[in-house]
Amino acid sequence: MKKYMALATALCLALSLAACGGSTSSSSAAASSAPASSAAASSEAASGTASSEAAAGELTTVVSGKLTMSTNAAFPPYEMTTDDGSFEGIDVEIAGAIADKLGLELQIDDMDFDAALLAVQQGKSDMVMAGVTVNDERLAVMDFSDSYATGIQVVIVPEDSDIASIDDLAGKKIGTQRGTTGYLYCSDTPENGGFGEDAVVAYDDGLTAVRALLNGQVDCVVIDNAPAQSFVESNPGLKILDTEFAVEDYAIGVNKGNTALLDAINAALAELTEDGTVQSIIDKYIPAE
Ligand code: GLN
Repeated sequence: MKKYMALATALCLALSLAACGGSTSSSSAAASSAPASSAAASSEAASGTASSEAAAGELTTVVSGKLTMSTNAAFPPYEMTTDDGSFEGIDVEIAGAIADKLGLELQIDDMDFDAALLAVQQGKSDMVMAGVTVNDERLAVMDFSDSYATGIQVVIVPEDSDIASIDDLAGKKIGTQRGTTGYLYCSDTPENGGFGEDAVVAYDDGLTAVRALLNGQVDCVVIDNAPAQSFVESNPGLKILDTEFAVEDYAIGVNKGNTALLDAINAALAELTEDGTVQSIIDKYIPAE
């Protein structure tokens, strides 16, 4: 845990506030499958599109002609539902841009986070995009694309909490989301920097965990920094501690051994990263301060 905290501190120093809890955009623009910066895209299009399209030529997907993405749309600003029931967020827009590059139609299947991970493993979805952190347990059962974003585990507490740092979590009730890295870290044994399973309550999603915190059922919630920022903004009386648990890489998970799809996704992602599309999508939802 110490190593993660050192990393987190270094990253916070190195990056602007945006990466360490910058404000979440309240933009409610509906998800569009168009890349956010099509002007920038055009300069790279000639060579770029050719390579991801070539990779896409051999693709077999779960539903022909579609790129099926499993997700948990309760993780703002990466994925959330709009008032009219459609989906928006960083992952939703990046997925839309990748699908466009591959000549496929994006289909989003919303489910619990642990189910979204399982869906790719069972061949029910082509990819999982849900702010998914790459870790060894998951690498054993699925393959991951190159990373497209960074997450940091943070602690949400009531404003008047006596918890001031991670050391104060011993003996407290910790709320987490089921199946997430936040749960894994906290439920680990004290020797490994965790607090033991009995100290941790696993909720269906982040919002449910935050509601439990507001109701006093847990003393804190450990969750990724971007959704934490969003939940704290929309629920007065809560704050995020300055200390972090871990710096993590988000990537797209696919069925283990599906190298055709993985290569196609990585080719598309490289083009979208190079032409600035990925960064402009992230900036749209997490504006730099
Ligand atoms: N990044 C965390 C994980 O991968 C949480 C993701 C999520 O809750 N959507 O476990």
